[in-house]
Amino acid sequence: DQLINQIKAGEVVERPSAVVKELVENSLDAGATRVEIEVEQGGLNLIRIRDNGSGIPREELPVALQRHATSKIQNMDDLERVGSLGFRGEALPSILSVSRLTLTSRVADASHGWQVSGAGAYENEEPKPAAHAVGTTVEACDLFYNTPARRKFMKAESTEFRHISQFINRIALCRFDAGFTLKHNQRRTLDLAPADSEPEREARVAQICGDDFVRNAIRIDEQRMGLSLQGWVGLPSFARTQADLQYLYVNGRAVRDKLLGHALRRAFADAMHSTHYPAFVLYLELDPVGVDVNVHPQKTEVRFRESARVHDFLFGAVHQLLRRQRPEPEQ
Ligand code: ADP
Ligand code: MG
Repeated sequence: DQLINQIKAGEVVERPSAVVKELVENSLDAGATRVEIEVEQGGLNLIRIRDNGSGIPREELPVALQRHATSKIQNMDDLERVGSLGFRGEALPSILSVSRLTLTSRVADASHGWQVSGAGAYENEEPKPAAHAVGTTVEACDLFYNTPARRKFMKAESTEFRHISQFINRIALCRFDAGFTLKHNQRRTLDLAPADSEPEREARVAQICGDDFVRNAIRIDEQRMGLSLQGWVGLPSFARTQADLQYLYVNGRAVRDKLLGHALRRAFADAMHSTHYPAFVLYLELDPVGVDVNVHPQKTEVRFRESARVHDFLFGAVHQLLRRQRPEPEQ
């Protein structure tokens, strides 16, 4: 069973940033408004995520470390409308199978927290009482300590941390309802308070993408035939030589999609006669029945029922917006 878990883990936790992703998504699924992320040595020595979400009751703690323990899906219907980010019940057992893991949690009506832990596997120990505020802390130490071959595949500490930091940026740009802090080797690299108002949201975008981006971007707000596009598109003065400032969300989820990426790049190239990469933070919304977000387990790919219509809408909206910025050619 541990072997199966390790194989599964290969898919779920291929590197430290994937662990962070699963844990942060769990925190958000639990309704957390504060998520503290602490990592050491690119996450290989330590990943600690603390949240103020609903917590896990004592009797469910052992279950959470066992495979297929998701509390989020009871039947196939649920599977069809996955509202929450996680739905496979595999993340915690997979992470446990390749680390020394401690899970501490407290629910609102408990007088204190409870803790379970394991190294590589859960040995069915009883939860122990532990001091903890309402919410959950997951600590994963010595990642891949028992799979040396995988450990060897890890890149430099700085590279692994960059992946983690990029993931936090990506999720923070769509979960304005939550605050995030990130620490690497005891040093705080990011501190974002929950952003409820429009100016606070723009301030968060500036914090993540830079003041320069916000100053050199135009707001977009387009609705047409059930499709909606909002966000920021960088002006040509802010064009990039790399595709390194591109955030796109479909119905609140970060996606990296060829079709949509193509629409945006074409719109930029066409309107601005630029071969550089556009910078953008964009939120596309459409009726959820028109989009399948579960094409890929990492959930960054999407499939649209009417992909041409979505492509054309995105292209049209951004193209038009950029055209308006360009001085009219002289007669
Ligand atoms: P999934 O997210 O796919 O359900 P996970 O292995 O990630 O599976 O988590 C297993 C279960 O543990 C979740 O369904 C949830 O009930 C509980 N859980 C995990 N992390 C948290 C958290 N931070 N706060 C509250 N509950 C959590
Ligand atoms: Mg999960």
